[in-house]
Amino acid sequence: MSTPKSTTVPFVDLASQHAEIAAEVEAGIAAVFAATSFVDGPPVADFEHQYASFVDVDHCVGVANGTDALELALRAAGVGPEGEVVIPANTFIATAEAVSRIGAVPVLVDCDDERLLIDPDLVEGAITDRTQAVVAVHLFGQLAPMERLAQVCGDAGVPLVEDAAQSQGARLGGRGAGALGTVAATSFYPGKNLGAAGDAGAVTTDDATIAAEVRRLRNHGSSTRYVHDVIGMNSRLDTVQAVYLRAKLDRLEKWNELRVRAAVRYDRLLADVPGVRRPLLGADGQHVWHLYVVRVAERDRVLAELGRAGVGAGIHYPYPVHLTGAYAHLGLGRGTAPVAETAAGEILSLPMHPHLTEAQQDRVVEVLADAVAGGRS
Ligand SMILES: *Cc1c(COP(=O)(O)O)cnc(C)c1O
Repeated sequence: MSTPKSTTVPFVDLASQHAEIAAEVEAGIAAVFAATSFVDGPPVADFEHQYASFVDVDHCVGVANGTDALELALRAAGVGPEGEVVIPANTFIATAEAVSRIGAVPVLVDCDDERLLIDPDLVEGAITDRTQAVVAVHLFGQLAPMERLAQVCGDAGVPLVEDAAQSQGARLGGRGAGALGTVAATSFYPGKNLGAAGDAGAVTTDDATIAAEVRRLRNHGSSTRYVHDVIGMNSRLDTVQAVYLRAKLDRLEKWNELRVRAAVRYDRLLADVPGVRRPLLGADGQHVWHLYVVRVAERDRVLAELGRAGVGAGIHYPYPVHLTGAYAHLGLGRGTAPVAETAAGEILSLPMHPHLTEAQQDRVVEVLADAVAGGRS
Protein backbone atom coordinates (compact mmCIF):
# COMPACT_ATOMS: atom_id res chain seq x y z
CA MET A 1 0.00 0.00 0.00
CA SER A 2 1.56 3.31 -0.98
CA THR A 3 1.02 6.46 1.01
CA PRO A 4 -0.45 9.45 -0.84
CA LYS A 5 2.17 12.17 -1.12
CA SER A 6 -0.07 14.83 0.42
CA THR A 7 -0.02 13.12 3.81
CA THR A 8 3.73 12.62 4.08
CA VAL A 9 5.51 14.80 6.63
CA PRO A 10 9.27 15.21 6.19
CA PHE A 11 11.56 15.05 9.22
CA VAL A 12 13.41 18.15 8.02
CA ASP A 13 12.71 20.49 5.10
CA LEU A 14 15.95 21.95 3.79
CA ALA A 15 14.32 22.84 0.45
CA SER A 16 12.05 25.43 2.07
CA GLN A 17 15.01 26.96 3.88
CA HIS A 18 17.00 27.07 0.65
CA ALA A 19 14.13 28.72 -1.22
CA GLU A 20 14.24 31.67 1.19
CA ILE A 21 17.93 32.35 0.61
CA ALA A 22 18.45 31.08 -2.96
CA ALA A 23 18.75 34.43 -4.73
CA GLU A 24 21.14 35.87 -2.17
CA VAL A 25 23.28 32.74 -2.17
CA GLU A 26 23.47 32.61 -5.98
CA ALA A 27 24.81 36.15 -6.13
CA GLY A 28 27.29 35.51 -3.33
CA ILE A 29 28.58 32.28 -4.85
CA ALA A 30 28.87 33.86 -8.31
CA ALA A 31 31.15 36.48 -6.73
CA VAL A 32 33.31 33.78 -5.11
CA PHE A 33 33.64 31.94 -8.42
CA ALA A 34 34.41 35.15 -10.31
CA ALA A 35 37.17 35.95 -7.82
CA THR A 36 38.15 32.24 -7.49
CA SER A 37 38.55 32.97 -3.79
CA PHE A 38 37.70 29.40 -2.81
CA VAL A 39 39.90 29.20 0.27
CA ASP A 40 39.84 31.99 2.86
CA GLY A 41 37.94 34.44 0.65
CA PRO A 42 36.44 37.58 2.20
CA PRO A 43 33.09 35.88 3.08
CA VAL A 44 34.91 33.65 5.61
CA ALA A 45 36.09 36.53 7.79
CA ASP A 46 32.74 38.23 7.30
CA PHE A 47 30.84 35.16 8.53
CA GLU A 48 33.24 34.63 11.45
CA HIS A 49 32.67 38.22 12.51
CA GLN A 50 28.87 37.98 12.18
CA TYR A 51 28.65 34.65 13.98
CA ALA A 52 30.86 35.90 16.84
CA SER A 53 28.52 38.83 17.32
CA PHE A 54 25.44 36.57 17.11
CA VAL A 55 26.86 34.30 19.83
CA ASP A 56 28.26 37.27 21.77
CA VAL A 57 31.90 36.19 21.89
CA ASP A 58 35.10 37.95 20.91
CA HIS A 59 36.35 35.24 18.54
CA CYS A 60 34.91 32.80 16.00
CA VAL A 61 37.13 30.53 13.92
CA GLY A 62 35.44 28.76 11.02
CA VAL A 63 36.49 25.16 10.43
CA ALA A 64 35.62 22.26 8.14
CA ASN A 65 33.04 20.46 10.34
CA GLY A 66 31.78 20.11 13.88
CA THR A 67 33.94 17.14 14.81
CA ASP A 68 37.11 19.03 13.87
CA ALA A 69 35.75 22.03 15.79
CA LEU A 70 35.48 19.87 18.93
CA GLU A 71 38.95 18.38 18.46
CA LEU A 72 40.49 21.81 17.91
CA ALA A 73 38.62 23.38 20.84
CA LEU A 74 39.75 20.57 23.15
CA ARG A 75 43.37 20.73 21.97
CA ALA A 76 43.45 24.51 22.35
CA ALA A 77 41.97 24.17 25.83
CA GLY A 78 44.91 21.96 26.78
CA VAL A 79 43.67 18.41 26.23
CA GLY A 80 46.47 16.06 25.18
CA PRO A 81 47.21 12.34 24.80
CA GLU A 82 46.39 10.25 27.90
CA GLY A 83 44.23 12.99 29.43
CA GLU A 84 40.64 12.35 30.45
CA VAL A 85 37.66 14.29 29.15
CA VAL A 86 34.27 13.96 30.85
CA ILE A 87 31.39 13.80 28.36
CA PRO A 88 27.75 12.65 28.50
CA ALA A 89 27.11 9.02 27.55
CA ASN A 90 24.12 10.10 25.46
CA THR A 91 25.47 12.26 22.70
CA PHE A 92 26.28 12.00 19.03
CA ILE A 93 29.38 9.84 18.60
CA ALA A 94 31.39 12.86 17.38
CA THR A 95 31.76 14.19 20.94
CA ALA A 96 33.66 11.04 21.87
CA GLU A 97 35.53 10.81 18.55
CA ALA A 98 37.04 14.25 19.02
CA VAL A 99 38.45 13.18 22.39
CA SER A 100 39.79 9.90 20.99
CA ARG A 101 41.44 11.55 18.00
CA ILE A 102 43.61 13.54 20.40
CA GLY A 103 44.61 10.32 22.11
CA ALA A 104 42.69 11.29 25.24
CA VAL A 105 40.12 9.08 26.97
CA PRO A 106 36.40 9.89 27.11
CA VAL A 107 34.92 9.40 30.57
CA LEU A 108 31.19 8.86 30.20
CA VAL A 109 28.60 10.09 32.67
CA ASP A 110 24.85 9.71 32.79
CA CYS A 111 22.14 12.33 32.24
CA ASP A 112 19.06 13.49 34.16
CA ASP A 113 15.80 11.74 33.35
CA GLU A 114 13.80 14.88 32.47
CA ARG A 115 15.91 16.70 29.92
CA LEU A 116 18.46 13.99 29.18
CA LEU A 117 21.26 16.51 29.78
CA ILE A 118 24.59 15.70 31.44
CA ASP A 119 24.22 15.44 35.23
CA PRO A 120 26.56 17.93 37.00
CA ASP A 121 26.70 15.87 40.22
CA LEU A 122 27.97 12.89 38.25
CA VAL A 123 30.46 15.15 36.47
CA GLU A 124 31.80 16.23 39.84
CA GLY A 125 32.26 12.59 40.84
CA ALA A 126 33.98 11.73 37.57
CA ILE A 127 36.69 14.39 37.79
CA THR A 128 40.15 13.01 38.68
CA ASP A 129 43.65 14.49 38.60
CA ARG A 130 43.86 13.33 34.97
CA THR A 131 40.76 15.26 33.87
CA GLN A 132 41.67 17.90 31.28
CA ALA A 133 38.20 19.10 30.23
CA VAL A 134 34.47 18.60 30.65
CA VAL A 135 32.22 18.77 27.58
CA ALA A 136 28.69 20.10 28.05
CA VAL A 137 26.52 18.97 25.14
CA HIS A 138 23.49 21.20 24.55
CA LEU A 139 21.41 18.24 23.44
CA PHE A 140 18.31 18.62 21.21
CA GLY A 141 18.68 22.43 21.28
CA GLN A 142 18.40 22.88 25.07
CA LEU A 143 21.20 24.33 27.15
CA ALA A 144 23.09 22.02 29.49
CA PRO A 145 23.04 23.16 33.17
CA MET A 146 25.88 25.63 32.59
CA GLU A 147 25.82 27.50 35.89
CA ARG A 148 26.26 24.36 37.95
CA LEU A 149 28.78 22.87 35.49
CA ALA A 150 30.83 26.09 35.57
CA GLN A 151 30.89 25.85 39.35
CA VAL A 152 32.04 22.21 39.29
CA CYS A 153 34.69 22.92 36.63
CA GLY A 154 35.81 26.10 38.38
CA ASP A 155 36.30 24.26 41.67
CA ALA A 156 38.35 21.59 39.90
CA GLY A 157 40.29 24.04 37.71
CA VAL A 158 39.20 22.24 34.55
CA PRO A 159 38.06 23.96 31.32
CA LEU A 160 34.37 23.66 30.41
CA VAL A 161 33.94 23.07 26.68
CA GLU A 162 30.56 23.42 24.99
CA ASP A 163 29.38 21.11 22.23
CA ALA A 164 26.94 23.61 20.74
CA ALA A 165 26.24 21.67 17.54
CA GLN A 166 22.51 21.35 18.26
CA SER A 167 21.87 24.71 19.89
CA GLN A 168 22.71 27.70 17.68
CA GLY A 169 20.70 30.64 19.01
CA ALA A 170 19.84 29.24 22.46
CA ARG A 171 20.51 31.91 25.06
CA LEU A 172 21.22 32.25 28.78
CA GLY A 173 21.15 35.73 30.29
CA GLY A 174 21.52 37.28 26.85
CA ARG A 175 24.60 35.28 25.86
CA GLY A 176 24.39 32.54 23.26
CA ALA A 177 25.24 28.85 23.29
CA GLY A 178 28.91 28.98 22.39
CA ALA A 179 29.60 31.84 24.81
CA LEU A 180 28.89 30.01 28.06
CA GLY A 181 32.09 28.02 28.65
CA THR A 182 35.85 28.35 28.17
CA VAL A 183 35.53 27.53 24.48
CA ALA A 184 32.82 26.02 22.29
CA ALA A 185 32.52 23.94 19.15
CA THR A 186 29.59 23.94 16.79
CA SER A 187 28.57 22.11 13.63
CA PHE A 188 26.87 23.55 10.58
CA TYR A 189 25.95 20.14 9.15
CA PRO A 190 23.00 20.85 6.81
CA GLY A 191 20.31 19.61 9.19
CA LYS A 192 21.42 21.68 12.21
CA ASN A 193 19.52 24.85 13.16
CA LEU A 194 22.18 26.77 11.22
CA GLY A 195 23.14 24.46 8.37
CA ALA A 196 25.64 24.84 5.53
CA ALA A 197 25.42 23.45 1.99
CA GLY A 198 27.69 20.60 3.05
CA ASP A 199 30.08 20.24 5.99
CA ALA A 200 31.20 23.18 8.11
CA GLY A 201 31.76 24.10 11.75
CA ALA A 202 33.19 26.74 14.05
CA VAL A 203 34.97 27.33 17.35
CA THR A 204 33.86 30.29 19.49
CA THR A 205 35.55 31.76 22.57
CA ASP A 206 36.34 34.97 24.43
CA ASP A 207 39.89 33.75 25.02
CA ALA A 208 42.28 35.30 22.48
CA THR A 209 45.01 32.74 23.16
CA ILE A 210 42.67 29.80 22.55
CA ALA A 211 41.31 31.43 19.38
CA ALA A 212 44.82 32.00 18.02
CA GLU A 213 45.75 28.40 18.79
CA VAL A 214 42.67 27.08 16.92
CA ARG A 215 43.54 29.32 13.95
CA ARG A 216 47.05 27.94 13.89
CA LEU A 217 46.02 24.30 14.29
CA ARG A 218 43.29 24.47 11.61
CA ASN A 219 45.88 25.79 9.15
CA HIS A 220 48.63 23.14 9.29
CA GLY A 221 49.99 24.43 12.59
CA SER A 222 51.09 27.64 10.92
CA SER A 223 50.48 31.30 11.71
CA THR A 224 53.23 32.49 9.37
CA ARG A 225 53.29 30.92 5.92
CA TYR A 226 55.49 27.79 5.75
CA VAL A 227 56.49 28.16 9.39
CA HIS A 228 55.01 25.11 11.12
CA ASP A 229 55.52 25.11 14.86
CA VAL A 230 53.13 22.33 15.80
CA ILE A 231 51.52 19.43 13.93
CA GLY A 232 48.16 20.84 12.91
CA MET A 233 45.63 19.85 10.31
CA ASN A 234 43.74 21.26 7.34
CA SER A 235 40.34 22.23 8.63
CA ARG A 236 39.38 25.54 7.06
CA LEU A 237 35.86 26.79 6.40
CA ASP A 238 35.19 26.88 2.64
CA THR A 239 34.36 30.30 1.23
CA VAL A 240 31.26 28.92 -0.48
CA GLN A 241 29.98 27.58 2.86
CA ALA A 242 30.58 30.95 4.48
CA VAL A 243 28.35 32.59 1.85
CA TYR A 244 25.61 30.05 2.50
CA LEU A 245 25.89 30.33 6.28
CA ARG A 246 25.82 34.13 6.23
CA ALA A 247 22.50 34.08 4.35
CA LYS A 248 20.99 31.57 6.80
CA LEU A 249 22.36 33.36 9.86
CA ASP A 250 20.27 36.39 8.93
CA ARG A 251 17.15 34.18 9.24
CA LEU A 252 18.17 32.03 12.20
CA GLU A 253 16.42 34.02 14.91
CA LYS A 254 13.15 33.91 12.99
CA TRP A 255 13.54 30.22 12.17
CA ASN A 256 14.26 29.38 15.82
CA GLU A 257 11.11 31.25 16.86
CA LEU A 258 9.13 29.10 14.43
CA ARG A 259 10.67 25.98 15.98
CA VAL A 260 9.65 27.18 19.45
CA ARG A 261 6.12 27.85 18.23
CA ALA A 262 5.92 24.35 16.74
CA ALA A 263 7.21 22.83 19.99
CA VAL A 264 4.62 24.68 22.08
CA ARG A 265 1.92 23.48 19.69
CA TYR A 266 3.13 19.85 19.85
CA ASP A 267 3.06 20.17 23.62
CA ARG A 268 -0.59 21.22 23.57
CA LEU A 269 -1.67 18.64 20.99
CA LEU A 270 0.13 15.77 22.73
CA ALA A 271 -1.07 16.68 26.23
CA ASP A 272 -4.18 14.56 25.70
CA VAL A 273 -2.44 11.61 24.08
CA PRO A 274 -1.89 8.82 26.60
CA GLY A 275 1.37 6.92 26.39
CA VAL A 276 3.42 9.81 25.02
CA ARG A 277 5.89 11.50 27.38
CA ARG A 278 6.52 15.02 26.13
CA PRO A 279 9.82 16.91 26.44
CA LEU A 280 9.86 19.76 28.96
CA LEU A 281 9.38 23.16 27.38
CA GLY A 282 12.47 25.29 27.89
CA ALA A 283 12.87 28.37 30.03
CA ASP A 284 12.73 31.50 27.92
CA GLY A 285 15.19 31.33 25.03
CA GLN A 286 17.08 28.38 26.47
CA HIS A 287 15.72 25.80 24.04
CA VAL A 288 15.82 26.18 20.26
CA TRP A 289 14.33 22.78 19.45
CA HIS A 290 16.87 21.25 17.13
CA LEU A 291 14.89 18.09 17.86
CA TYR A 292 11.48 17.45 19.41
CA VAL A 293 11.97 14.20 21.31
CA VAL A 294 9.10 12.29 22.92
CA ARG A 295 9.33 9.02 24.81
CA VAL A 296 7.07 6.03 24.14
CA ALA A 297 6.90 2.34 24.95
CA GLU A 298 7.54 -0.11 22.08
CA ARG A 299 9.44 2.66 20.36
CA ASP A 300 10.68 0.60 17.41
CA ARG A 301 7.16 -0.55 16.53
CA VAL A 302 5.84 3.01 16.83
CA LEU A 303 8.67 4.32 14.66
CA ALA A 304 7.92 1.71 12.01
CA GLU A 305 4.23 2.66 12.00
CA LEU A 306 5.10 6.34 11.58
CA GLY A 307 7.32 5.39 8.67
CA ARG A 308 4.54 3.38 7.02
CA ALA A 309 2.22 6.39 7.34
CA GLY A 310 4.76 8.69 5.70
CA VAL A 311 5.79 10.54 8.85
CA GLY A 312 9.56 11.12 9.02
CA ALA A 313 10.86 10.37 12.51
CA GLY A 314 14.22 9.37 13.96
CA ILE A 315 16.16 8.24 17.02
CA HIS A 316 18.83 10.50 18.51
CA TYR A 317 20.52 8.26 19.42
CA PRO A 318 19.73 4.54 19.58
CA TYR A 319 22.98 3.64 21.43
CA PRO A 320 24.78 5.54 24.18
CA VAL A 321 28.48 5.92 23.34
CA HIS A 322 29.63 3.02 25.57
CA LEU A 323 27.27 0.58 23.83
CA THR A 324 28.63 1.30 20.33
CA GLY A 325 31.13 -1.06 18.74
CA ALA A 326 33.61 1.79 18.43
CA TYR A 327 33.75 2.20 22.21
CA ALA A 328 33.45 -1.43 23.26
CA HIS A 329 37.17 -1.21 24.19
CA LEU A 330 36.24 1.02 27.15
CA GLY A 331 34.81 -2.15 28.67
CA LEU A 332 31.75 -0.33 30.01
CA GLY A 333 28.66 -2.49 29.79
CA ARG A 334 25.02 -1.87 30.52
CA GLY A 335 24.52 -0.22 33.87
CA THR A 336 27.20 2.40 33.20
CA ALA A 337 24.61 5.09 32.46
CA PRO A 338 21.20 3.62 33.33
CA VAL A 339 19.13 6.74 32.60
CA ALA A 340 20.69 7.17 29.16
CA GLU A 341 20.38 3.44 28.44
CA THR A 342 16.67 3.32 29.29
CA ALA A 343 15.98 6.53 27.37
CA ALA A 344 17.75 5.16 24.29
CA GLY A 345 15.01 2.54 24.00
CA GLU A 346 12.16 5.06 24.33
CA ILE A 347 13.18 8.27 22.56
CA LEU A 348 11.55 9.24 19.28
CA SER A 349 12.31 12.45 17.38
CA LEU A 350 9.26 13.87 15.58
CA PRO A 351 9.38 16.13 12.51
CA MET A 352 10.73 19.52 13.63
CA HIS A 353 11.81 22.38 11.39
CA PRO A 354 10.90 26.03 10.83
CA HIS A 355 8.57 25.32 7.93
CA LEU A 356 6.49 22.63 9.64
CA THR A 357 2.82 23.48 9.01
CA GLU A 358 -0.05 23.10 11.45
CA ALA A 359 -1.65 20.55 9.12
CA GLN A 360 1.57 18.53 9.13
CA GLN A 361 1.73 18.66 12.92
CA ASP A 362 -1.89 17.54 13.20
CA ARG A 363 -1.07 14.60 10.95
CA VAL A 364 1.99 13.63 13.02
CA VAL A 365 -0.03 13.69 16.24
CA GLU A 366 -2.88 11.67 14.70
CA VAL A 367 -0.54 8.99 13.39
CA LEU A 368 1.47 8.89 16.63
CA ALA A 369 -1.68 8.59 18.78
CA ASP A 370 -2.93 5.69 16.63
CA ALA A 371 0.44 3.95 16.73
CA VAL A 372 0.77 4.25 20.51
CA ALA A 373 -2.85 3.16 21.09
CA GLY A 374 -2.36 0.22 18.70
CA GLY A 375 0.14 -1.29 21.07
CA ARG A 376 -2.16 -1.13 24.05
CA SER A 377 -5.38 -2.50 22.57
C1 LIG B 1 26.31 17.12 14.54
C2 LIG B 1 26.99 16.98 15.85
C3 LIG B 1 28.39 16.96 15.96
C4 LIG B 1 29.36 16.83 14.81
O1 LIG B 1 29.24 17.60 13.74
P1 LIG B 1 29.79 17.24 12.28
O2 LIG B 1 29.73 18.58 11.63
O3 LIG B 1 28.86 16.25 11.68
O4 LIG B 1 31.17 16.74 12.41
C5 LIG B 1 28.95 16.93 17.23
N1 LIG B 1 28.20 16.89 18.32
C6 LIG B 1 26.85 16.87 18.26
C7 LIG B 1 26.06 16.82 19.53
C8 LIG B 1 26.21 16.90 17.03
O5 LIG B 1 24.87 16.85 16.98
